[in-house]
Amino acid sequence: MRIAIAGAGIAGTYLSRLLAKRGIETDLYDGRDQGTPCRYRSCGWGAPSGIGHYLAAVDLDLEGYLMDSMSSMEFDGLIASTPLCTINKPRLLRDLASGLTLHHHPLDRHEPGDYDIIVDATGICRAFLSPCRSDLVLPTLQHRVKVEPVGDAPLIAGVYGNRIPGLGYLWIFPLGNGEYHIGVGGIRLDQHERILEQYYESNAHRYTFTPVCSCRGIVRVASPYYSQPFSLPQGGKEGTSPRIIGVGESIGTVAPFTGEGIIYSLECARILAACWPDQDRYERTVLAQFAWMRRERETLEYLLLEGKETGPRLKDRWRFYLNARRSGIRLPLAEAFRRMGSLSRWVENP
Ligand SMILES: Cc1cc2nc3c(=O)[nH]c(=O)nc-3n(C[C@H](O)[C@H](O)[C@H](O)COP(=O)(O)OP(=O)(O)OC[C@H]3O[C@@H](n4cnc5c(N)ncnc54)[C@H](O)[C@@H]3O)c2cc1C
Repeated sequence: MRIAIAGAGIAGTYLSRLLAKRGIETDLYDGRDQGTPCRYRSCGWGAPSGIGHYLAAVDLDLEGYLMDSMSSMEFDGLIASTPLCTINKPRLLRDLASGLTLHHHPLDRHEPGDYDIIVDATGICRAFLSPCRSDLVLPTLQHRVKVEPVGDAPLIAGVYGNRIPGLGYLWIFPLGNGEYHIGVGGIRLDQHERILEQYYESNAHRYTFTPVCSCRGIVRVASPYYSQPFSLPQGGKEGTSPRIIGVGESIGTVAPFTGEGIIYSLECARILAACWPDQDRYERTVLAQFAWMRRERETLEYLLLEGKETGPRLKDRWRFYLNARRSGIRLPLAEAFRRMGSLSRWVENP
């Protein structure tokens, strides 16, 4: 059986490594250079330290990729301890792909070669699957900046929903050596530049910000349930075109509230490898395991439509709280309930 994996992001490379461990060969494809200095586009590098288990399963050590710790973070003024860190994603992707057959060009969907199965690991592009049942995306703009404090206080890691006019947030993730990712993302947001400029201006008395690079990206926050179908059957006159199976962000394994997709893409690839080649079991497991993403997506829909006037309901606040707990973020329940409902400015001041 000939298998191609389109997309050498986190999901595609990890899947390829796991299958290789079971003696199943795959051809990986990616048109890697995205026109950015780091040559990656969705270059968010914040992840819980729990990804160490996933890396250990393919004989890699998280220590080798750690850039900075986010053990203490600010959430709209509330300081909490977290298991989050930033990882050197380009180095991790390079090492994940090492020893695998990687073709440095995209797989052409019109001439997919004589593969029996193509895994669509193309993230937001979803290049091989048919469109999602109901897509929802979050456009982002992220800067990499050198930050120097004017006084003694260093810039701390943080997430600020109250700076965004809509559903989304501004994030500050340290990358070590005084560098940070400072980004902004929001559903239907189109004022990214202005929000970041405002942030720099309002903090100019405390820090100097020197730009290193910048890139735009889009995150699929639709949830797996609304990103179905996960697969396309073998087609063509004599069943000649390959079967397609999606993995990772192509099928929406991203936390809708936060846009966190690294650990969930790893988990999705793990499930696919564990179920391989039983596609039905894979799809059932993904839907069951990520059922909470469907609920988060439904909260977003509610806040975008009816909730504009009324703000989050009790169950929405509970979902925000569960989201933080799932990520290992320790927030006091009552305060978290109050603040996490105000994911964005207009929820409190519509
Ligand atoms: C600005 C930004 C910041 C983010 N920050 C974080 C964060 O801090 N923490 C977190 O957990 N998540 C973050 N995310 C989300 C996370 O990066 C993604 O959810 C995750 O990388 C998805 O992994 P993936 O392998 O499914 O897809 P991707 O990482 O998107 O990989 C898909 C790959 O497919 C390739 N491709 C596309 N078309 C083809 C084709 N036809 N043939 C071959 N290859 C193709 C692309 O070049 C790409 O390399 C962020 C996203 C963005 C945009």
